[in-house]
Amino acid sequence: MKNCPQCGKPRKGDEFKCPECDVFYSQLDEILYEEQLRVEKDTLKGHIKAILAAKDRKQAAIDDLTLIWKNTPLKTKITLWTIFAFVFALVTGVL
Ligand SMILES: [Zn+2]
Repeated sequence: MKNCPQCGKPRKGDEFKCPECDVFYSQLDEILYEEQLRVEKDTLKGHIKAILAAKDRKQAAIDDLTLIWKNTPLKTKITLWTIFAFVFALVTGVL
C-alpha cells in the first residue's frame, strides 16, 4: 500500500509504519517489520542495541551473556572449557 490506511498520508521511503498513526501500511509490511526485528535481535548489533537501550546496562550485559551461554550447545561449552583448561595448564606450566 502506498498510503496510510488510517490517515491516507503517502508513504515515506522504506518506512513500514505511518510515523503519525503508528499503523502498518499493509499486512506485508507488518511481516517484514517483524522479520527485520527478529533478524536484528540475533545479530551482535541487535544485542549491543538492546544493552545500550537498557536502564541498567551492566545488568543487561550480564543477562544477555547468561542467555547466550544458556543457548550455547553443550558440545560448544565442553570445547570452550577444554580450550580454557588447556590455556590454563599452559600458563601455569610455564610459570
Ligand atoms: Zn497515518
